[in-house]
Amino acid sequence: MTQNTSNTLHIVGGGMAGSEAAWQAANMGVQVVIHEMRPKVATFAHQTGNLGEMVCSNSFRSDDDEQNAVGLLHWEMRAANGLIMQTADKHRLPAGGALAVDRDPFAESVTAALKSHPNVTVDYGEITELPSDGHWIIATGPLTSAGLGAAIQAETGADSLAFFDAIAPIVYTESVNMDVAWFQSRYDKGETEAEQKAYLNCPMTEAQYEAFIVALLAADKTEFHEGETAGYFDGCLPIEVMAERGRETLRFGPMKPVGLTNPHDPDNRPHAVVQLRHDNSLGTLMNIVGFQTKMKYGAQTEVFKMIPGLENASFARLGGIHRNTFINSPTLLDNQMRMKAKPHIRFAGQITGVEGYVESAAMGLLAGRLAAAEILGQPMETAPLNTAMGALVHHITGGAEAKTFQPMNVNFGLFQPVDGLKGGRRGRKDRYKAYTDRAKADWTAWLATNESSIKV
Ligand SMILES: Cc1cc2nc3c(=O)[nH]c(=O)nc-3n(C[C@H](O)[C@H](O)[C@H](O)COP(=O)(O)OP(=O)(O)OC[C@H]3O[C@@H](n4cnc5c(N)ncnc54)[C@H](O)[C@@H]3O)c2cc1C
Repeated sequence: MTQNTSNTLHIVGGGMAGSEAAWQAANMGVQVVIHEMRPKVATFAHQTGNLGEMVCSNSFRSDDDEQNAVGLLHWEMRAANGLIMQTADKHRLPAGGALAVDRDPFAESVTAALKSHPNVTVDYGEITELPSDGHWIIATGPLTSAGLGAAIQAETGADSLAFFDAIAPIVYTESVNMDVAWFQSRYDKGETEAEQKAYLNCPMTEAQYEAFIVALLAADKTEFHEGETAGYFDGCLPIEVMAERGRETLRFGPMKPVGLTNPHDPDNRPHAVVQLRHDNSLGTLMNIVGFQTKMKYGAQTEVFKMIPGLENASFARLGGIHRNTFINSPTLLDNQMRMKAKPHIRFAGQITGVEGYVESAAMGLLAGRLAAAEILGQPMETAPLNTAMGALVHHITGGAEAKTFQPMNVNFGLFQPVDGLKGGRRGRKDRYKAYTDRAKADWTAWLATNESSIKV
């Protein structure tokens, strides 16, 4: 495909990564065109034509920037004037120490911010070929359209891997039986009353838990398609798969009964607890935390209605299964996120083999800045190794074992050790604090060095 060779930056995909990349490049004074196929071409997970739509959980996970690597990534993106983070902060919902957002207003705000930016144009339509020239970022995500996926495969020769994620069901709050359920965050965590009551809890006795596990294991499941490899988004493991791993697995996972007191029966500790979390700011919808599933729809309603408090639940959305597409970045990309074989094309987001909304947006932020700097003739070093951003980009573009490359969340395991600190569990708190202090200093310095490129 021939495209113009002007200094316009073309971004394919207006999801977490593409939206952030566009914002960053546009703020550096570069003209950006976002090519987004929705709403003309749908995916099975997106529900709207909005940019920056969240397809599953409404959580950006931990917001702790001293003890958690994803919280540190939040911090770095905020420091870099990140669109995804500032919009998430604007539409934040109570969720204890996590950053949960009201998904529709969030995506509407991302869309409005980009559409009203003087340097951004949104072109609705599917791109099905790799461009032969120009400046491009491919940020088409886990649900890259089949046509473009085939073009990428033909170009790279590398096998992209398809596997499955799972969506958690959403219930209408008013349909929960409040004679049984109660609002409380574990250990009453949070500063405000809203934070301390961010979760709706449904308690189970031992007999109810045992019956639930039996039903879960017996329920009809959706089969994998022929030729597809089964794999799951880490942290989005289907509930029935967890149950298959052992009868007690759920009680030590999403159904753990700790840090909670049932006001309807304060003297008896529940054997297990199912938690629901707000899915919109109106408070009308709640998602069942950790209950992603590939059970068939009929089976889902039957099994979930066995949960005390959900006997009469109405479901706004049932769970589902999903595909994921990613390239072998360690062999295909340089540390500027460019294709080694076609350096006018960068990749960003989940398709590079990072995993999650935050990581995808982070890779968009970096790719957008690097591409804009190149267009402006002011080459920029990639993110410093000891930042969360840098740890991630260095992992996918070189640190990871290419032969066994699998999608990666940001985590402290990707960070270089800090000299003189104790290893093991005991030294963990000090170690994490040292990682995050070092990362903040390095990220601040990197931003300052590149500040001259920022026009807006
Ligand atoms: C079903 C499912 C559940 C998930 N659950 C979670 C979760 O709970 N938490 C979490 O953090 N992450 C989750 N993920 C991963 C999450 O989707 C990604 O981390 C994040 O959205 C990726 O951002 P992205 O920008 O790379 O892709 P996306 O946000 O998907 O954006 C890609 C965009 O590209 C567009 N596009 C695709 N092909 C083309 C084309 N050929 N031409 C033009 N446009 C195109 C798409 O319409 C889309 O808007 C889930 C993924 C799936 C599929």
